[in-house]
Amino acid sequence: MYTLDLSGKKAVVFGIANQRSIAWSISKRLNEAGATIISAYQNERVKDSVTKLTSELSDVTLIECDVSKEENVEKCFNEIQKIHGNIDILVHSIAFAQKEDLGGRFVDTDREGFQIALDISAYSLISITRNAAKMMNEKGTIITMSFMAAEKVFPGYNVMSTAKAALENEVRQIANDLGPDNIRINAISAGPLDTLSSRVISGYRDMKSAHSERAPLRRNITHDEVATTALYLCSDMSSGVTGEVIHVDTGYHVMGI
Ligand code: NAD
Repeated sequence: MYTLDLSGKKAVVFGIANQRSIAWSISKRLNEAGATIISAYQNERVKDSVTKLTSELSDVTLIECDVSKEENVEKCFNEIQKIHGNIDILVHSIAFAQKEDLGGRFVDTDREGFQIALDISAYSLISITRNAAKMMNEKGTIITMSFMAAEKVFPGYNVMSTAKAALENEVRQIANDLGPDNIRINAISAGPLDTLSSRVISGYRDMKSAHSERAPLRRNITHDEVATTALYLCSDMSSGVTGEVIHVDTGYHVMGI
């Protein structure tokens, strides 16, 4: 019997900062479906907002984890294991690049900016997946968040496009590594949504209006459309799907103009 019921499942979610965070929309949907949420938030700066928001959930544990340091990630998963034992779901909804690297010419990206963006936005998936997989039950699922700039040029998205291309490649390689353990991993390539992260991208407004004017559905996506796709990917309903990048972008990616 295939079902969207996640009762008894434990989901570790990275990436809630405020009420607009995609990770928050996903957490609400997973929790409604019965999953316990373990929210790994970045630092003190977002702690109050994450604490307030997640108090709405029926069952939640908060753990601080800045993914830029390996020891933080290891400590975070050790704590989770102590409190919850094994887990079932991992959500990676993290990205960061310096503001100056999200505008102007891509070719002007310097070494440090490249390393920061790729480290936080792409390497972090490898690091948290390695730690999570050790304590994942069979039929575990992992999801991460991408954008179509991994495939085509979106001026202004710059080094983050490179990070998303790396991320999508990681999804395929991790799918092959963890498939024999019956653990699946997929990415959602979402259309533009107003969040803390998207608003600093120069050219974001143009990306949003291009989607609403030219996508087959002639509108922008909603946070909830991403969250319900995440719910499908975290449930048995998608048991045959791994290594995939699912576009939730009102169809924009199929257009040639
Ligand atoms: P957001 O700003 O709400 O989320 C980004 C999260 O990354 C924040 O919670 C932040 O605390 C976390 N983060 C950054 N550096 C970190 C670090 N060192 N350690 C731990 N956490 C760290 O914005 P969002 O739009 O919800 O972004 C979530 C994901 O969705 C990102 O991967 C983003 O690229 C992707 N995405 C967003 C859009 C969009 O238009 N908003 C579209 C496609 C994909």
